[in-house]
Amino acid sequence: MTRSLTCLFLLAIPVLAGAATTDSRTTGIVAIVGATVVHPELDGGSAVSPNYTVIITGDRIQAVGPATTTKVPHGARVIDAHGKWVIPGLIDSHVHFFQSGNLFTRPDAADFGRFVSYASEVQRNQARLPQTFRVWLASGVTSVADVGGPFWNFAVRDAARASTAAPRVATTGPLISMIPRPQLDLGDPPIIKVASPGEARALVARELPHEPDYIKVWFIHEPGDDLAAQESIVRATAEAAHAAALRLAVHATELVVAKAALRAGADFLVHSVQDEPVDDEFIALARDRHILYCPTLFVTMGYRYALSGTWKPTEAEQRLADPQVLAGLHLEAVPPDQLPERVAKLIREHPAVTPPTVALQNLIKVWDAGITVVMGTDAGNIGTVHGPSVFREMELMQRAGLTPLQVLRSATVNGAATMAQSDLGTIAVGKRADLVVLDADPLGDVCNLSHASFVLKDGHVFTPKELMSF
Ligand SMILES: [Zn+2]
Repeated sequence: MTRSLTCLFLLAIPVLAGAATTDSRTTGIVAIVGATVVHPELDGGSAVSPNYTVIITGDRIQAVGPATTTKVPHGARVIDAHGKWVIPGLIDSHVHFFQSGNLFTRPDAADFGRFVSYASEVQRNQARLPQTFRVWLASGVTSVADVGGPFWNFAVRDAARASTAAPRVATTGPLISMIPRPQLDLGDPPIIKVASPGEARALVARELPHEPDYIKVWFIHEPGDDLAAQESIVRATAEAAHAAALRLAVHATELVVAKAALRAGADFLVHSVQDEPVDDEFIALARDRHILYCPTLFVTMGYRYALSGTWKPTEAEQRLADPQVLAGLHLEAVPPDQLPERVAKLIREHPAVTPPTVALQNLIKVWDAGITVVMGTDAGNIGTVHGPSVFREMELMQRAGLTPLQVLRSATVNGAATMAQSDLGTIAVGKRADLVVLDADPLGDVCNLSHASFVLKDGHVFTPKELMSF
């Protein structure tokens, strides 16, 4: 990476775009009156409070109580929420802002470079950040955790902090990786291979001045790799992260690799164990370390749909995704002679795309063992769009066997643990006013989470429609 290239990237990110139209919406005091308030942290009947009022002052919840006894302050902006539900703002614990979700965003997986260059795709993603922030809010997602990308990821976090119409963003820098990804190196690569514990420590040291929210390892274990040597690299990374009071997030998708990651000090597994059922040893390691476990059930399906030409937007994605990104998922737009060979083969073979069975079964085992499950999409990967892909993910979690309340818990109060912010994820006095007002009961079916009439972030009130007017 050269310094000048990094600076160019930083300058390219628009800051504050879109904020001007929303600042005027701040009233200071907002009253959501007559709603059924959902408490995802509680069980059974305690999880719902019918006919409640929520009072918000500035960016905080000031009062929550029965509508009959909770006084609406004079001058408050009143949202009549009779017949509606209020939930804490959703939290996606696994996203990547350097990727858009379109076909051209991961040339290491499928190289469409003859049709759209990777450099132009990354420039488009940077220029499009204000809209990407908006699709997250329009989907009711008020916080996201970016778990790895170029050093300009930190400028994304700055831009989100400076904008009213943006989710809160936690982030880290380049993935500390077991393998290189030269296809993604434009001067500030998102993935950097390290060959030794010393190189891992050096890369952590380069990230620390940017104040990352965690450190991330891409623990790819290929046949013939020395697992013990790889584990020592992860351990060195964990020690360096922990010495700086940071958590270690690890990509480890096979049981043997995930256990090595946990032994080495991982605090956050950013994917499911996908290859075989988790065993007692895994559960014990995960419990001992009090880890976060993010299933990312849809992302592999997204790749398969998109690269076989069978990706179709859901109803929620038609309303709430960035139309530019949806247009970039139309494989028919790519001339046949410019298709990557892998894609041409998938189109010929037309594989059935099915949910990842082992991952779904492992989700229930992990949940029942009391491990903290956090909802995350891996948005930005091909076929997994920013924003409404949360509804695909939560539908799969429900299909795996979690109740809608459990899914909602993973996407709110548990997600607050990913963000390391205890003032997020619940509706209580003193918490941040990140809220979603829904038209239908989210505890009846998680699909109802996609129908918001209002989204509040730090007390600022938005409608999905105005957020999507760009
Ligand atoms: Zn990821």
